[in-house]
Formats: sequence, structure tokens, C-alpha cells
Amino acid sequence: MALSLNKEIQRGEEGIKEGKQEEGAYEKLGPYLERAMALQTALILFEWDNETLAPEKAGKYTARVQGALSGAYQEIMTDKAVRELLNICQKEQGLTEAEQAIVREASEELSRLEKIPPEEYRAYQELVAESARIWSGAKKAKDFDAFAPTLKKIISYQKKFAGYQAKDGQRMYDVMLDNYEKGFSMEKLDEFFGLLKKELVPFLKRVTESHVKIRDDFLTGNYPREKQRELAEFLAEYVGFDFERGVMAESAHPFTTNLHNHDVRLTTHYKDRVDSSLFSVIHEAGHGIYELGVDDELTQTLVGQGASMGMHESQSRFFENIIGRNEAFWVPVYGKLKELFPEELEAVRREDFVRAVNKVQPGLIRTEADELTYSLHVLVRYELEKMLIEEDLEVERLPELWADKYEEYLGVRPQNPAEGVLQDIHWAQGSFGYFPSYALGSAFAAQMLQFIKKSMDFEGLLEKGEVEVIVQVLKRHIHRFGKMRDSRRLLKDMTGEDFNPRYYVEYLKEKYGKLYEVE
Ligand code: ZN
Repeated sequence: MALSLNKEIQRGEEGIKEGKQEEGAYEKLGPYLERAMALQTALILFEWDNETLAPEKAGKYTARVQGALSGAYQEIMTDKAVRELLNICQKEQGLTEAEQAIVREASEELSRLEKIPPEEYRAYQELVAESARIWSGAKKAKDFDAFAPTLKKIISYQKKFAGYQAKDGQRMYDVMLDNYEKGFSMEKLDEFFGLLKKELVPFLKRVTESHVKIRDDFLTGNYPREKQRELAEFLAEYVGFDFERGVMAESAHPFTTNLHNHDVRLTTHYKDRVDSSLFSVIHEAGHGIYELGVDDELTQTLVGQGASMGMHESQSRFFENIIGRNEAFWVPVYGKLKELFPEELEAVRREDFVRAVNKVQPGLIRTEADELTYSLHVLVRYELEKMLIEEDLEVERLPELWADKYEEYLGVRPQNPAEGVLQDIHWAQGSFGYFPSYALGSAFAAQMLQFIKKSMDFEGLLEKGEVEVIVQVLKRHIHRFGKMRDSRRLLKDMTGEDFNPRYYVEYLKEKYGKLYEVE
């Protein structure tokens, strides 16, 4: 743990000068947290390895190692000495902001681990480990009934755990939401999603009925993997990902993880459609640049990573959509693309390429959604989660309600549960309250954009290839603080305003109104 080590060295020197110095509770906590962090880092490395390079049959055996490591982690974090030291630290004066944040995170982690009876937690872990397999089988068979009983059990555990954690009359779904995005309760989210529904559902209808038709057939074709890999590395570096402190590998589902701010790892996948990997790389590079930008003082502590799920998505989507799907971005870069794929893109003008990668196509699958329809996929999930947790909606009714909502908001209706309610793994993993952060991230990003545009020529910078200037602004206001401050505070400190979803709606309506010639 860099922070505590540096401090120890500093205080050690002071101690020599002053002759003697009493070790405080925070310093005593250091070695415990250091060991806990080391175990976490090892767990992250195993997860990364499982998704990228580990042999297929390793799973069951490696799981035992992972189980032992996470058991050791829990033991340290719930150690009696840790509890006592945290109690003292909470009252201690004179801790720095970073130290206070570390104490806060450790205390929250402790109470999370402590409040759930260990037998229940273990049974739940086993259920969840098993449920991913059941979910994937049900999805393959397009059979929701095969997954429904498991989902019911997961929901009942989730409610129970939320009950243990709830503070003074807090509602259960609010407890769950709090785990992913502090400061965004149902009250705030109802307002957010209500606005999206009111503004974007009718707007999307106008877009799909527009006379403007966009060609995108040239995005699919002979795009060799080798060349796509070259492009992926070029783009990640171009937007600011540092390959001396990061690597990129392939995995079935792209993701980003990090051991600390000098080891950040991205994955991607290569498809026949060239824009699929291209934007997924820029997206993951956005997550990666966030982690690379965390202060050295914070990395390898409990506040050494991104502030929240939503803030993380704000950065990845800022890079993917606001930077990457901007025509100005392609002015210096499109030549490189043509050079790599001369046959496919010979006759395609830059303007037409940019229009194609911004084409709006309401579909059934969230992960394939375009920028405009994306948040409506999230809206469906938010409304259903709320009903499941707060209104005891019968699990059996999910497929039908899901299909109705898709039809109402997006104008498409799934023909089977595999392309409907079974498409995401989140619920099978017990992640309730996670989905809203995807949409919040896009909205945070739009609010940041309008702030940045006030003080600099955003498009001009992109045209000149100076993405770095924009990265520095994000680093200064967001990245360097890691998890020390929550997303609402960061957003307010940066933009001078509390979260305001109107910027997001205005951004989408302006961009897509122009593209599709509608209002
Ligand atoms: Zn992401």
C-alpha cells in the first residue's frame, strides 16, 4: 500500500528528528489493509487470467485458490483489531482527506461483510456460482422457466441482505442502488428515467420515421483480424492509453481491470463488423485511462480505483461516443483506417463513415444498442427491477412485461426470452441496482461535455488530433481523485452544478436531430 508505506517513511524520519513518536490507530491499520489489498490484487489477476489465457479446464481447480484467497481477505477485514482500530480512526482528528476516505471505505466493507450471517453468505455464494451456469443453459434453450426458480431464490436473498444493510427505514431497492451509485436513490432515478421516457421515446419515433436513410453495409466485410488488432492498438494509444502501464488482450466479452495505476488491462474482441471492436476498444480505453489517471498517492488503497460504476461508464462513454463518434475525431484518423482497409473503404467518404457509425437502429439487445436508444434499454430494466424488489412482481410475469416495455419504448418485440429477459447475466450474478449506472454514466458524460465546451474548442481540438488536452481536463477534475469523492460530488465540483439530466437529453436531441433532420 503506497500510501501507508510513504507515510511510515515520512513519519519515521520525523520520529528520528523528534526522538520518539507514538503510532496512531491509522498507522496500526496500515499493515492489515496492505495485506487485504494484496489479496484483492491477486484475486483480480486470477479473474483477468480466467477470462483471457487460463486453459478451459482450469476453472474448478482455480476456483479453490480463489475461494481460499477471498476467505483470507474476509478474515483480515473482519478481524477484531481492524474493527477496533476503525472505531478509533472514525473519531480521530487530523486525518487527511485520503485517510478519512480509506477509513470510510474500510468501515463500509466491514459492515457489509459483518451484517450477513456467514452461513447465509456462503449458501448465497454457492447459489450465485451455480446460477450463471443455469442462466446460460436457459438462455441457450430459450427457456425462461428453467431459470425462474433460481432467479426467485436470488431475489429473496438480495432482499434479505438489503434488509440487514438498510439504515433507518431505507427502502430495499435504495439499499441496492447505493451499492453501485451513492446519492442516486429511487427518488432521483425516477426523475431521471421519467425525463428520458418523456423526451426520448417520442423523439426516437420521429427519428425512425425520418426520410433520412443511412447506409452502413460497408462496415461489414473483409476486415482481417490482424489489421483490426493493429487498428485497436493504434486507437487505444491515440486516445491516451499508455501501453507502458497497460496491456490489451482478447476475451469473449470486452472488459477492463487494473491491479494499480501502473498495471491496467483492457480486453477486446474482433468481429466481422469493423466498428464493433473499434468502438469497444475506445470504450475500454476510456475505462483504462480513468484508472491510469488515479493519483499515485491513492493507488493500491481502498480508494485507489474509479469513484463508482456510473462514473466509470461516464468516462468510457465519453471516449466512445462523445469523442469517438464525433466527426471531428476522424479528421486526422480516417486516413489510417483507409490505409488499413483499402478495399473495403476505398469509395467510402469520411462523412459517410461517421454517419454509418451513428446510425440509429432500435433493437432487442442492450449491448448492441446505438447511442440514442441505449438508455431506453436501461429504462426497461430499471422499471422491472423496481417492481421485482419493491412491488413483489411475480418472476413468472417478467418475459411478458419485458416484451411489452420493449414494444412501447423501442418499437420492437422479442420473439423469445433469449433475446428478451434472459439476455444479460447481471440478475444471475445477483447484481440488482447495477443497470441504472449505465445510463447515469452517459448522462454524466454529457454534463461534462457542456462544461468542457464552455472553456475550449472541443471539436477544434479533435480536428487537430489533440485528444490529450481533453484527457488532462478529465484527469484534473475526475480521474486523480479515485474513489476518494463520490460521483455526485465530483460532477458538481467539476461542472459547478448538481447532476442535471437535461444536458444528456439536449445532447442527444441536438446530435440526432441534425443527423436525421427531425426536431
Ligand atoms: Zn463500460
